[in-house]
Parts: sequence; structure tokens; C-alpha cells
Amino acid sequence: MVNCSHSKCGESAVINVTKPYCKSHFISYFESKVAATVKKYKLISKKDRVIVACSGGKDSTTVLYLLNKWFGNVTALAIDEGIPGYRNVTLEDLSSFCSRNNIPLKTLSYKETFGFSLHDALKKVDVLPCNICGTLRRYLLNTGAKGFTRIATGHNLDDEAQSIVMNFMKGNLELAARLGPLTGVVESRKFVQRVKPLYFCHEKEVAAYAFLQNFGIRFNECPHARISFRAAIRDFINGLEQQHPGAKQNIVSNFIKVLPKLKEKYAASSSISYCRGCGEPSSNELCKACIYVNSLKSPAVAAVQHPQKLQSFIY
Ligand SMILES: [Zn+2]
Ligand SMILES: [Zn+2]
Repeated sequence: MVNCSHSKCGESAVINVTKPYCKSHFISYFESKVAATVKKYKLISKKDRVIVACSGGKDSTTVLYLLNKWFGNVTALAIDEGIPGYRNVTLEDLSSFCSRNNIPLKTLSYKETFGFSLHDALKKVDVLPCNICGTLRRYLLNTGAKGFTRIATGHNLDDEAQSIVMNFMKGNLELAARLGPLTGVVESRKFVQRVKPLYFCHEKEVAAYAFLQNFGIRFNECPHARISFRAAIRDFINGLEQQHPGAKQNIVSNFIKVLPKLKEKYAASSSISYCRGCGEPSSNELCKACIYVNSLKSPAVAAVQHPQKLQSFIY
């Protein structure tokens, strides 16, 4: 039996991610780590109006719980893509969690906003589901967060290591420059600043925290996730981590050292323009969400006429 590594504790350990801890010392270790990230990177101040992008999963529920505990007055924002057997389940968990904790919940759905669910869309176009979601979820999060000053997301260290490697592998340094605990390279009146309080927390730590706190959520994974580019990168990094412990942490901590230079480089060359279809920020005349939605309105021609455009929805 291994004992808790806290100097004044003789309890037996219940978790060993970086160090062995008992339940209460793991909870205080985890919370201090998140609080330190929020403070060091100035993610949220008392004056902020915070909305948390929630999926009903362990990561975003943890962020919602902690920000509500520390700052109060937070709102949960959920996106219902329409993934039968998955999203309805996670939204049920989220809705019960919000009721128990008196947190207002705002839900936006693909069906109501665009006229089709993800399930409908996939029957019409031959494209990876995560590519559609990367675009349309981001669009709805941005529109749903109007009136707030921060969108907090549940991205953890594993997610960030994957995003860094994905962008490097795609040769897209400009996208990589938007990463970090505080996202984006230029400020826009129309972009609500995104923040990632779990930036330095391993996925296993978040899972352990959510489990020990008994949030009443089921630990489901999106049925489409396993066929994504991200899943291939996740397996690759997890394999590396097993052979070279610390690899994941090193990807993120070294990236964050060069990030200020990257942001500086791309801030100088990027100016934000606005989509002529919906008015949201976009680097092209028409934003990706509008191209997508227009294509799906004429489904028979979408995949034939715009294969490159459809395939290029990379997040
Ligand atoms: Zn202890
Ligand atoms: Zn648009």
C-alpha cells in the first residue's frame, strides 16, 4: 500500500498520476493547480461575465463547478449537435448538474439554428463528422457567448498536446499561434476571449477529480471521435508517453515558451474581417460555417461542387 505524499498525511493513496495522494489531498492539489493557472495567465477576473462551454463530460463539468465555486454567477452553454445516443445522454447529466448547483443553462442546437442536426448532415455529405463539428460548434459557442466577456472551456493538457502536434503536422503554425491558456492572436469586438483553466491538468487527473467529486456524470465518448485525426494523434502521443514519461507535459511546456513569439508574429500579419453572410469574424469573405450551411441547403451538389472546401474544415 502506498501512502499519500502530502508531508502531514498518513492516509493511504487513492490516486497516483504525478504523485500518490489521498482523496482530500488530491482534491486540494488539483484545485490549487487550476487556481494557479487562472491567476498566472489572468484568465478570469472578478469583473468578468463568464460562460462555460459545457458538454456534460468530465472536463467542462469540472471547469463549471470550480468557476462557479470561485467566482459565482457563471452560466453554462451547451451545444446540441444532434448525436443520437450520446449528446442527449450528456445533456441530461449536464441539466441535472446545473439544477442541483443552481447554474443557469443555455442550450443551442444545430437543428434549431441551421435546420439540420449533425446526424442529418452526415447522411447528406461525405465528410468527417469532427470537421463539421469543429466549425459549427465554434460558430454557436461564439454566438451563444454574446454579452459575456469570457468563454471558459474544458481543454486539458492532453487536448492541448494533441492540438499542438496536429497543427505542426498540418504545417499550420498560424493555427498553433491561437492556442495557449488564453486563445487567439488578435482581439476582436466580436470574439469573446476563450480561456482554458485546465491547461496544465492531465486528462487522468481531471477524470479522477470528476470521479472523486461525484458530479453525477457518465463518462461517455462521442461515437465519432475515434475516426478523427485527433484520435490518431492522441494514440500516438499516449504511446510516446508510455515509452518516454513526461513527453506530453514537455510538448506543452516547451510550446508555451515559444508561444508569445508566435502570437507576436501572427498578430502583426493578421487583421480580422467579417463574414458577409452572418457578420461573424472570418478570414475569408464567407466564413466556414456559412459555406457549410449553404452547401447543406443544396445537399445533392455539396460534396460534388465543394469537395476541397468541405475537406478543409480543419480545427
Ligand atoms: Zn493525504
Ligand atoms: Zn458566416
